[in-house]
Amino acid sequence: MSFQVFGLPVSRGVAIGRAVLVASSRVDVAHYFIDETQVVAEIDRLRAARDAVASELGVLQRDMPAEAPPELSALLDVHLMLLHDETLTGATKHWIRDRHYNAEWALSAQLEVLARQFDEMEDEYLRERKADLEQVVERLLRAMARGAAFAGAAGPVVRESGGEDPLVLVANDVAPADMLQFKRSVFTGFITDVGGKTSHTAIVARSLDIPAVVGAREASRLIRQDDWVVIDGDAGIVVVNPSPIVLEEYRFRQRQIELERARLSRLRHTPAVTLDGERIELLVNIEQPADAIAALEAGAVGVGLFRSEFMFMSRAGELPGEDEQFEAYRAAVEAMKGLPVTIRTVDVGADKPLDRMSINELRHAHALNPAMGLRAIRWSLSEPAMFRQQLRAILRASAYGKVRLLVPMLAHLSEIKHTMEALARAKQQLYEARRPFTEIEVGAMIEVPAAALILPAFLRHFDFVSLGTNDLIQYTLAIDRADEAVAHLYDPWHPAVLQLIARTIAQARAMNKGVSVCGEMAGDTDFTELLLAMGLRSFSMHPSQIASVKQRILLADARRLAVRLETVLASDDPCASCSAAFGVVESATLSAR
Ligand code: PEP
Ligand code: MG
Repeated sequence: MSFQVFGLPVSRGVAIGRAVLVASSRVDVAHYFIDETQVVAEIDRLRAARDAVASELGVLQRDMPAEAPPELSALLDVHLMLLHDETLTGATKHWIRDRHYNAEWALSAQLEVLARQFDEMEDEYLRERKADLEQVVERLLRAMARGAAFAGAAGPVVRESGGEDPLVLVANDVAPADMLQFKRSVFTGFITDVGGKTSHTAIVARSLDIPAVVGAREASRLIRQDDWVVIDGDAGIVVVNPSPIVLEEYRFRQRQIELERARLSRLRHTPAVTLDGERIELLVNIEQPADAIAALEAGAVGVGLFRSEFMFMSRAGELPGEDEQFEAYRAAVEAMKGLPVTIRTVDVGADKPLDRMSINELRHAHALNPAMGLRAIRWSLSEPAMFRQQLRAILRASAYGKVRLLVPMLAHLSEIKHTMEALARAKQQLYEARRPFTEIEVGAMIEVPAAALILPAFLRHFDFVSLGTNDLIQYTLAIDRADEAVAHLYDPWHPAVLQLIARTIAQARAMNKGVSVCGEMAGDTDFTELLLAMGLRSFSMHPSQIASVKQRILLADARRLAVRLETVLASDDPCASCSAAFGVVESATLSAR
């Protein structure tokens, strides 16, 4: 049966493929294809894991203390029974043999199939056995991880699309850090039940440049393993089991999008200059040093935002030390071949949690409003040793290219003072250790309304500012950017948001300080003319967005746009007013509304 699911469009284009349902807790399980010659070895790995878990459970039963409740032994019996049940390990082999999934992926896929069957059971006792099944699968996955570590398992084969059906990932949620590992993955699109348009999961999906829809509510419940799915990343629509006519329509759209991309890619080496000769700086946002390659390929003139926190997230053990960080920053700086790299200090918190829980983070995790809690610079200042370590690592990278330092989420002047003291101390330490570094420009993210409102006081301390519009919208409108339930109120066109952005750009320019936008608005062509009209000359976005933004810049006359800015800002409906004032026909239809 064909049906549609509606969500929020976060990454453009059309993806068509078979659904792979993945439980949120298991998205970090390795997903890769093996080739025919590896099938036997992979099934052996599964068998070895099953044997290991069987003996693990056997030992637990044997050593059960006499005073242990009898239910415990019965529970272990159930686990052993599930372990040997043909529907678990037996059926998992089918995913390995026929689909060529690696063993962990095959096991998770089979778990999804069985979990649904349990969910549909009438009998409550039986329904609750799903938790037991999940525990057994956890044990198997852990045993395989141990086995892989001992045996040095063969590396993943990332199969090119050759002949097989393309796959799209369907999950309730995917953590931003887990999303990153799909960079070179087998999936051609993503659907999640939760999340907002500028949640970090959506941001990473956008950086992968594959169609994605988030906030699709019931998607992971309604879509079945292996269903054919069309993801319309422009409209936020998911069509499940489309009719042949609908499918053909979407395939046609896919081809059109590819042609359009090929056409736009010709602009790669064209300088971004408006019709009236204003040179515009197009920078990229990256999450890891390897992204620098895509940045150069897209024709970016530097990195406007390196989200360093991704190096700190999803690490089972210690946080990265100074040397590890330094190597990563140096790699990014060297890869950019002399172009500037703006490294933002750790911005964890809210929807970017750390795995390792220090006392402070624990407190944070239990905060009522994590987005307003101990995050970003607040966290860094509460961990002074860690902060200085990061500052030293960033400073050391400056000996290898042009580095700029960016500080997230500042709101108080006292935070600026403490940040500058930490920086001075870090420099002193490097100087004493005779480590080379150069003087670097220091900038502040303007993403809290308080900072925008007292901008001149900020500008006295910084060389440049970068507008984090994702958070600025969140904090101005009191709307959680990651919450799909209020996503319709997360409105970048809100007059209050636009006024804060316009003021910030104007004041920074008046004080001769650099100003850029590195939030998602910078890469959204709906806002290109408006931001140019406000006087913005530096945009930072995902590499894949550069060509289309550049196209808009090449057709814009910044002086003429500026004349009409006041009308748009004074309007009750800036979105409509923007398309009327700037004559951009698409603005109204592409808008966030
Ligand atoms: C922002 O808030 O706009 C921003 C660029 O930072 P992040 O999305 O990482 O919070
Ligand atoms: Mg931010």
